[in-house]
Amino acid sequence: MNATTTAPSLSFEFFPPRDVPGQKRLIENVAGKLGALEPSFFSVTYGAGGTTRDGTRQTVYRLIDAGFNAVPHLSMGADDKTHIQTILDDYCSRGVKRIVVLRGDQPSGFGANRFTHNAEALVNLIRTHCGDQFHLEVAAYPEIHPDASSAEQDLEFFKRKIDAGADSAITQYFYNADAYENFLERCAKAGITAPIVPGIMPITNLASLMRFSQKCGADIPRWLNNVLTDTADDQQATIDFGVDFVSRLCERLLQLGAPGLHFYTLNRWGATTRICQNLALH
Ligand code: FAD
Repeated sequence: MNATTTAPSLSFEFFPPRDVPGQKRLIENVAGKLGALEPSFFSVTYGAGGTTRDGTRQTVYRLIDAGFNAVPHLSMGADDKTHIQTILDDYCSRGVKRIVVLRGDQPSGFGANRFTHNAEALVNLIRTHCGDQFHLEVAAYPEIHPDASSAEQDLEFFKRKIDAGADSAITQYFYNADAYENFLERCAKAGITAPIVPGIMPITNLASLMRFSQKCGADIPRWLNNVLTDTADDQQATIDFGVDFVSRLCERLLQLGAPGLHFYTLNRWGATTRICQNLALH
């Protein structure tokens, strides 16, 4: 496969800060710095059923007011259709152009049952209510979604989201480029032509990386875990190693034809900026 010929797109993901001062700090200190890399958009996660729901909207609107292209994540959770339609109408009136559409992860303390609405149902709802007003992103899992009963079935459900009207996809993070290559090949065989942007998680701290990875099912290769364990007490060494390793991963993904890179920034700008500079994406 050849490297992509057009400049890869960059996008940066935030989670909504808890309060207004936090939102202001995020925009001034973090979005301000990352904005210099000229991203296509900043996206803001959504805690379906949780306390961050209004924070997503507020953060998105603050980003828009500061002149950035801001993209909310959205999932149905336990909400009814009318509530979601109200949110969509609000986004439309505020100039939102793109939405990341998800089933969502249920917040802890929300009860035993998982959300019943999969992402495909929400793509259908948005297309029915809003037509083509939004560019819709959905999630993809090169290492297979942890709830899926097989790789084949996961791909089938992914294809259904695209066929329902999603325009492109962003992947869960992974540290094994072969998983992405294999996923692209399987998608091509299944007739999926939508762009699939790899999600990139910079490595700055082993403990938090293990926590996130356990939750979302991302595989941390044994050798990587061992190397990071050796440097766990030296934060600067962990960051330097992580920047170098993730830069090389991104380089390989771009060579495989990745149309862009989507960074899970965890509301920080340092490691992401260094990786983009290493890749000369600035
Ligand atoms: P779906 O596409 O609905 O798939 C979920 C599971 O159900 C998969 O195993 C799939 O194979 C299966 N499935 C799909 N359709 C069907 C069907 N019709 N019948 C039976 N099974 C089916 N979580 C949040 O809470 N907030 C966020 O803001 C957020 N942002 C994210 C951004 C990205 C880029 C990614 C990759 C993930 C994000 N997540 C977020 C996590 C995501 O919500 C979880 O991974 C969730 O468990 C699955 O969401 P999904 O949209 O992929 O679900």
